[in-house]
Amino acid sequence: MAKPFASSADLGEKRQSLETLAEGVYALTAEGDPNVGAVEGEDFLVCFEALATPVAARAWLARLREHTDKPIRYLVLSHYHAVRVLGASAFGADVIVTHEKTRELIAERGEQDWASEYARMPRLFKEPASIPGLTWPTATFSDRFTIDLGGDRGDLVLHYCGRGHTEGDLVAWLPRQRILFAGDLVESQAALYTGDAFHRDWASSTLDRVASFGAETLVGGRGAVARGAGEVEAAVGQTRDFLAVMLREVSAAGTLKEAFEHAHRALEPRYGSWPIFEHCLPFNVSRLWDELHGVERPRVWTAERDREVWDELQS
Ligand SMILES: [Zn+2]
Repeated sequence: MAKPFASSADLGEKRQSLETLAEGVYALTAEGDPNVGAVEGEDFLVCFEALATPVAARAWLARLREHTDKPIRYLVLSHYHAVRVLGASAFGADVIVTHEKTRELIAERGEQDWASEYARMPRLFKEPASIPGLTWPTATFSDRFTIDLGGDRGDLVLHYCGRGHTEGDLVAWLPRQRILFAGDLVESQAALYTGDAFHRDWASSTLDRVASFGAETLVGGRGAVARGAGEVEAAVGQTRDFLAVMLREVSAAGTLKEAFEHAHRALEPRYGSWPIFEHCLPFNVSRLWDELHGVERPRVWTAERDREVWDELQS
């Protein structure tokens, strides 16, 4: 029997957990659905990631409001993917911050990505009609962007670590608390999505930079919060291993179909039961095949191309 397309048949609600990681530092995780976070400044809030729709975002904000009523000054978006950014209007933030490449990617492929992601995982798009349009950053940076949290709260520093999950991922670092919000550059017990990735950079210099912060708490894009240096190292290591296995298997394969079958076989024992593994793998292998055959930038995913790749590899 054919596998249902991507996560189109995944309709089960996930349980959301709000965790306080340090005073005024919050993460909402959801059993493999996209994670979000927030950091209190002295008299304002910084929110990290926006979820897929304003209605989905408002449910998160209602929970956050049980802890703080400070106004939202900054909304930080780790990268351009629709399920991270299209809920932005719910935050009413003064400033929306992304990496400069993310702004370019939204202009280049934001509409197509929206259609693609909606078809792949409709459950995340609660009341899709509440989305007013694409999300545009109002501040961008190339290397780093520092937010002074005020009082004696220290800084929140946004860093670009190089090409990885996309061309423009940022991470948010709290040096005083040693907490890192890593976006989709690191997953903790959830499968990687690499359909828009630069695998070789990500698996080497980019993850080296992420690891070099020496975080003691790490919030990845999906999955549980990693607590303690050992769990942080394990999450980064898992991400690197997933990429390394894909690189090894796809490099050695003679055809795209063979690349998919070999990568699936090699990854399945460790990662097969993790969220979105089957969903992601055809798109991942397609992109890596391109990357290894000289296609510098990821091709744009459209609802049509998604189906073609799925039918060729996964059905
Ligand atoms: Zn993503």
